[in-house]
Amino acid sequence: MKIGKDFIYDEYDVVVVGAGHAGCEAAFAAARMGMKTAILTINLDGIALLSCNPNIGGTGKGHLVREIDALGGEMGLIIDKTFIQSRMLNTSKGPAVHSLRAQADKRAYHAEMKKALEKQENLTLKMAEVIDIIIENGEVFGVRSLTGAIYKAKSVIVCTGTYLGGRIYIGECNFPSGPDGMHASTLLAESLRNMDFPMRRMKTGTPARVHADTIDYSVMEVQKGDEEIIPFSFLNQGKDLSKPQVDCYLTYTTKEVHDIIRENIDRSAMYLGDIEGLGPRYCPSIEDKVVRFADKDKHQVFIEPEGIDNKEMYIQGVSTSLPEDVQLKLYHKITGLENCQFTRTSYAIEYDSIESTELKLTLEHKDIKNLFFAGQINGSSGYEEAAAQGLVAGINAVLNLRGEEPFIIDRSEAYIGVLIDDLVTKGTKEPYRMMTSRAEYRLTLRQDNADMRLTQRGYDIGLVSEERYQMFRKKKEMLESELERLKSIKLTPTNEINEKLKELKIPPIKNGMSLYEILKRPEANYEKLQVFDQSRPSLPREIKMAVETEIKYEGYIKKQSIQIEQFKKLENKKLVDIDYDKVANLSNEARAKLKDLRPNSIGQASRITGISPADITMLLIYLEQLRRGKNESK
Ligand SMILES: Cc1cc2nc3c(=O)[nH]c(=O)nc-3n(C[C@H](O)[C@H](O)[C@H](O)COP(=O)(O)OP(=O)(O)OC[C@H]3O[C@@H](n4cnc5c(N)ncnc54)[C@H](O)[C@@H]3O)c2cc1C
Repeated sequence: MKIGKDFIYDEYDVVVVGAGHAGCEAAFAAARMGMKTAILTINLDGIALLSCNPNIGGTGKGHLVREIDALGGEMGLIIDKTFIQSRMLNTSKGPAVHSLRAQADKRAYHAEMKKALEKQENLTLKMAEVIDIIIENGEVFGVRSLTGAIYKAKSVIVCTGTYLGGRIYIGECNFPSGPDGMHASTLLAESLRNMDFPMRRMKTGTPARVHADTIDYSVMEVQKGDEEIIPFSFLNQGKDLSKPQVDCYLTYTTKEVHDIIRENIDRSAMYLGDIEGLGPRYCPSIEDKVVRFADKDKHQVFIEPEGIDNKEMYIQGVSTSLPEDVQLKLYHKITGLENCQFTRTSYAIEYDSIESTELKLTLEHKDIKNLFFAGQINGSSGYEEAAAQGLVAGINAVLNLRGEEPFIIDRSEAYIGVLIDDLVTKGTKEPYRMMTSRAEYRLTLRQDNADMRLTQRGYDIGLVSEERYQMFRKKKEMLESELERLKSIKLTPTNEINEKLKELKIPPIKNGMSLYEILKRPEANYEKLQVFDQSRPSLPREIKMAVETEIKYEGYIKKQSIQIEQFKKLENKKLVDIDYDKVANLSNEARAKLKDLRPNSIGQASRITGISPADITMLLIYLEQLRRGKNESK
């Protein structure tokens, strides 16, 4: 390979490396906030590639998509245009874990994202492989590509995903590659290593794709989409997005499948020891499942279409790094796949990620000014997790250049805050996947109120459009006035009223009560109380749902907001330029970790593994001494 001679291609405010899920959101954010932006990517046909499961959303991930949308990001709009099946998951549980999940038409998703990038003002989309990040005096200068072109930039956001040092494993066979036969990003990986970036190998895997006409669906359970389509994007709320949906199917592995895996486990790249990177715990390969859950005699397998005019079916739950001959044998033992024909083989991919604790909560590198990292390169796994980081990195790249306050979302405000805080405060040894259980304030962080939590902040930094902002304002006013209105309608405990309540299977009232109070009762819901509320305004579905949730969970939400107040108190105790050698009585471990990780606040320090409550007390005492010292010197 021969690199081209250096020449200056052009100058930009922001250069984004990689047009995956992180890169696209980063580029949109920077361009929409008025920066001259370029997004460089190895292959324009790989823009926003859904390299694994063809769906967006799901538990915890649906929340991220809503939050990205509430802040003016793109992912929610693209999936609303390209979904082929949509379902609201966990509806039997509380609203905090209701999660939207939509099957995407892969090709359409890519095409729509490419179209949106091409249409975006202030944005240059270019096919180029970046091989170096150029740093001068501790600050980013630009990037160099394979052709020798230098893209000067005031800020660079690296979003290289699973391509960085990518290597594919299929049994004994392995070779450098990105996903789906795309070109791996090997030179940049070497360059980052030479710049002493602490790197880690990570691994993930994807199942085979099978020709749709070679599957026997008659022995499978059909999984249909929801009749009523709930959009991801708040901009689409109230719009009818309904369209014919595709079916997914559920089948199972068999004892024969498990036997074939056990007989050939020593030929799996994972078990051959060829792969050093750790894989995603919550997305294990089939051989991992058979080994770890040996007592289970069958595992679920979901058959998911990859698109409308696309004959490829995604076989969820059977990703493997066993050799192809073994794959064929085991797939042919899965119920309904006895005669299936592969269109693509299953494989594992190992790639490089950086140590995410090297980053600030803005995703800027702690020691290199205006260099940001976002997505899988930070150790996360998932389109949604990547997109969320890209958005935050893009926003902060701009605010840095404007010399404005950083945009930090904390754990009490959004799943995005939980994601980034977990990555940069604790780091991760395996691909990090978002789940609702990771969010301690999840009752407040519901997917339905993401706009109420974030859109104002997105508007204040100039990212959220006027149209989105006015929709948000109107919705907020509708919600607040309806809550007040229900408080103002009082029912008196007359026989007539209690008779009606009885008909509605709602216990009778003894004293005067507002509709607001009655709605708190488990037997009551917003629709049922219509009989007592003739003057009710006609409200959109999402407002009615939000009203009911706010009222029914008011007690829990109040309790949680007290906890959030405590949390914010510690988050607001900033640790800026602290000389930890001067802090008395810190444990050696704590002192070393604080000097290394340089947390942003007492709150963040308290979440670093190995920092004890006693250390936090010492820090608080030291901060108080500093404050008094400052006052006395005034
Ligand atoms: C095989 C496989 C299985 C997966 N399984 C799962 C799963 O089960 N669950 C899950 O949640 N997620 C899974 N994922 C992960 C999911 O695909 C990623 O999380 C997501 O795509 C990460 O987005 P990203 O933007 O960080 O990177 P990517 O989507 O990987 O995009 C990176 C982009 O950067 C470009 N690029 C890379 N290097 C350079 C360079 N030097 N110069 C210019 N451009 C460059 C690439 O062309 C690409 O467009 C899987 C991914 C793969 C490949």
